[in-house]
Amino acid sequence: MTVALQILFALFIIILLILFVFRPKRKPLFELPANYPDLLADYVPFYAALDEDSKKRFEDRFARFHAAVRITGANAEVEDLDRVLIGAAAIIPVFYIPDWDYVNLREVLLYPGRFNLDFEQGGPDRTVSGMVGNQHLEGVLLLSKWEMRQGFINPHSNRNVAVHEFVHLVDKMDGTLDGVPQILLERKYMDRWKALLEATANSIRNGESDIDAYGATSPVECFAVVSEYYFNQPELFKERHPELAEGLGRIYRSR
Ligand SMILES: [Zn+2]
Repeated sequence: MTVALQILFALFIIILLILFVFRPKRKPLFELPANYPDLLADYVPFYAALDEDSKKRFEDRFARFHAAVRITGANAEVEDLDRVLIGAAAIIPVFYIPDWDYVNLREVLLYPGRFNLDFEQGGPDRTVSGMVGNQHLEGVLLLSKWEMRQGFINPHSNRNVAVHEFVHLVDKMDGTLDGVPQILLERKYMDRWKALLEATANSIRNGESDIDAYGATSPVECFAVVSEYYFNQPELFKERHPELAEGLGRIYRSR
């Protein structure tokens, strides 16, 4: 090889190295606000109750969620607190399930308040505060900012719309939204779980339960509503609904 060729070759390697070092970095979908552990501690009792090691694990899962899922305002300003609460609602149900990723979710759309089934934000029939999208909205979760915040701000509530919608995504991970997360529940427990949801819905209908009436709508809603209560008020739920708590503990690996 001539000296000229050697120099050319060396230059070529140097250029390759420079290109490698200065390659464009993939921009994360969400820069975590510096104070997000404080926001979690202030607004998310589930996080606040964890020990230090578990808090760190929660934060890692939270960051991974935000790196994968975009949060977009639909006429609503997405503030740091909203990002923190949405990320927390995503992680709470799956915190004890190793390596869980919401592969069926790419975007959360945040509406200012309730919307109707045509996603309109005006008019009298705005009854929806959260929804798992399907068809052209497959992979999208719709949430009302106002109701989402209420679920975290009121510590004595057994409702939390954001957790509710993420539970639907957990349910749907096996391909069907039916109240039975087949990925997480062993086959031998499935019939017992279905019967328990049915019995729970019946006791709500008969006015014998402190579980929200929306849980009586269908097994799908029953699973989501009892999960909200289980994560919002774990001690009270275990005391009043030991059989459901055992079933949910089995599903969420949180026993
Ligand atoms: Zn629902």
